[in-house]
Amino acid sequence: MPNALEQLLLPAECLLCRNLLGFAASDQIVCDVCRYRWRPVVRPWCERCGQPGPHFGPCRLCRDWPEAFAQARSAVWLDDGAREAAHALKYGGVPRIADDLAAAIARHVPAPEAGAVLVPIPLGARRLRQRGYNQSEHLARALGARWRLPVRSDVLVRRRETATQTALTPEARLANVAGAFEMRNVTPHSAFVLVDDVFTTGATIAEAARALARAGAVRITAVTFGRAAIPDFT
Ligand SMILES: [Zn+2]
Ligand SMILES: [Zn+2]
Repeated sequence: MPNALEQLLLPAECLLCRNLLGFAASDQIVCDVCRYRWRPVVRPWCERCGQPGPHFGPCRLCRDWPEAFAQARSAVWLDDGAREAAHALKYGGVPRIADDLAAAIARHVPAPEAGAVLVPIPLGARRLRQRGYNQSEHLARALGARWRLPVRSDVLVRRRETATQTALTPEARLANVAGAFEMRNVTPHSAFVLVDDVFTTGATIAEAARALARAGAVRITAVTFGRAAIPDFT
């Protein structure tokens, strides 16, 4: 582990490919080559939840969303390098990578309307203590700086810890997060934009949207850096 002085003197290298970062890119964590390898999520998709693929009939992913939850978009597919980058934000203790991920969102997802407020998906208190930071809050702050939108991390709280979603089926994910969030410090805003690192089935984000809608929010959208392919989902 290099000490602070060595870190200052050593040329920075890309977290993913380990190639040296050029002087102009020395504040990045991921080099431009690796960023251009990230595959943007593109149309055709469900206009509401942004899930790509041919849709026949109502979309299974968003049909039970609260009415106020209008739209969700993700920047890139969560494969290879993008997965590693999201992982570094979440577990690697490299919160500075949040700006690289926010840059990808700003590049691929249109900015929300003026007056919108970014709301990171909160962690439970125990997980926040373990990790030391909320990766979604870092992402929301980096994105807020790019979009020039305020971030409110005090309006949504987790009422209880939830089991990690990774190993759960889509149905089990819904049950796992039911009633997990609560809105506090409610102030009127024209629109809330939920921010999270990864969208898989959208169960967590939809549950957060439900809490905002219960408290009277009328327009809710969501953005994430990554979109994970859902196995066996058609
Ligand atoms: Zn690289
Ligand atoms: Zn949909």
